[in-house]
Amino acid sequence: MVSDPAVRGNPSVPSLSIELRISGFNPDQSTAKDFGHSSKILVVGAGTWGASTALHLARRGYTDVTVLDAYPQPSAISAGNDVNKIVSFQNPPSEDDPDYVNKTFFAALAKGFREDPVFRPHFHETGNIIAAFSPGGLKAIRGRHREGFDVVELNTPEDFRKTMPPGILTGPLPGWKGFWRKNGAGWVHARNALVSAITEAKRLGVTFVGGQLEGKVVRLLYDSEGKDVIGVQTADGRQHLASRVILAAGANADQFLDFKKQLRPTAWTLAHIRMSPEEAQKYRNLPVLFNADQGFFIEPDEDKHEMKVCDEHCGYCNWVMDENGERRSVPFARHQIPVESAERIRGLLRATMPQLAERPFSFARICWCADTVDRNFLIDYHPDHPSLLLAVGASGRGFAHIPSIGGFIVDRLEGVLNERIAYAVRWRPEQAVNRNWDDTQNRFGGSYKVMDFQKVTEWTDIPHEDNALPFGSVVPRI
Ligand SMILES: Cc1cc2nc3c(=O)[nH]c(=O)nc-3n(C[C@H](O)[C@H](O)[C@H](O)COP(=O)(O)OP(=O)(O)OC[C@H]3O[C@@H](n4cnc5c(N)ncnc54)[C@H](O)[C@@H]3O)c2cc1C
Repeated sequence: MVSDPAVRGNPSVPSLSIELRISGFNPDQSTAKDFGHSSKILVVGAGTWGASTALHLARRGYTDVTVLDAYPQPSAISAGNDVNKIVSFQNPPSEDDPDYVNKTFFAALAKGFREDPVFRPHFHETGNIIAAFSPGGLKAIRGRHREGFDVVELNTPEDFRKTMPPGILTGPLPGWKGFWRKNGAGWVHARNALVSAITEAKRLGVTFVGGQLEGKVVRLLYDSEGKDVIGVQTADGRQHLASRVILAAGANADQFLDFKKQLRPTAWTLAHIRMSPEEAQKYRNLPVLFNADQGFFIEPDEDKHEMKVCDEHCGYCNWVMDENGERRSVPFARHQIPVESAERIRGLLRATMPQLAERPFSFARICWCADTVDRNFLIDYHPDHPSLLLAVGASGRGFAHIPSIGGFIVDRLEGVLNERIAYAVRWRPEQAVNRNWDDTQNRFGGSYKVMDFQKVTEWTDIPHEDNALPFGSVVPRI
């Protein structure tokens, strides 16, 4: 799902002709009572977007912010609780750039990773290699995110091999084509960046609560007319009232209200292989290698010398029928992956680094995100609940935005978000009326179809040192 957010099926953000798009759209539609810097704000979810939001709220002077999460921080199920994520930058767009929205988001994250002391230490500008071999994959990567950066075309296996020191890319790389972007791209130590954001937000006065009783939100609370949201209830029965509730619960947000099919919880798979300290040294500072048809890997982490490897595919859903007879993908946590996914990961290694292909995995997990129909984010007030702000729909590409997404979310909270951006990320159920739940959404690899966990018969059995998910470690069945 992932990303080079550019390539893990980055959406084509609509280049709204301003007049057309904005007609009839009121970006400041919250009719809720006024609030100010000392009003109580609750953020549901201390994952990537919740942590970023908390940090930006605190930096803007909000003094009564509480973040609730079902797990102690960093949450065991946050999609951002991971050794690394791919990041690529964009330069700021001109006002008339048709890709204004997307580029504005990417320019903001670039500024954050380059300049913000909270995030800068965790970013590694190693460059990235973007590749594919299927016609669809090759089309998707063409021209992506390259303007203004140092880019080299890669057309043969030998071209690819030369991007890394000798002895690393020893595999056949069959049919691979792509490009090597040498600057403005790389990876971020995701967990450390997440913890850094939370630590700074706490230092600035934000309260974080984590745990299955005191932090887990079980429902939204409504006013006596059942209209506005006035707070949330946690699993310990406590009711938390607030002037604004910001829902940033990632793939689980869908459980709190009817999103009118705008969110599809979808999961991806990852595994680690352990290396010796000497090997880790040899594999350091590699560019990220991402193949839109097969998967990606990033250099081993410095602490545990583990290399994370992901197979690329169109995602897994967990389809169950809800009480209305509607199909619904329900997330669950599991620190194992389907055996078929493990095999695909080994396939990627055989194609690239066969010397590592048969190593045992030291860790694996499934990891959930929520896809919107067009894979643009959803950052908006709920039309019927004016004190509820939704910050969801990261669509498999939301980690890279950790330095800056909270700023856009707080802009929306304050009703000052740039109109073109507000339009692109608005509440938009009209897009989901006849949603094709099986849409691959410009993703490739795997079976080239969205897969179903209900049909997976074999899971890995990898002993983990930290395999301690408190709940939900089995697939919920229909
Ligand atoms: C395998 C994989 C690889 C990826 N690679 C990349 C990449 O390379 N680059 C990139 O930019 N993006 C990548 N992504 C996407 C990125 O990780 C996500 O888009 C992003 O982390 C989503 O952030 P979020 O805050 O919406 O969700 P999360 O980070 O998942 O946070 C949601 C939070 O809500 C909490 N929560 C859930 N239920 C409740 C409840 N009832 N009460 C209270 N709290 C609750 C959870 O504990 C969690 O902390 C990847 C995703 C996956 C799955």
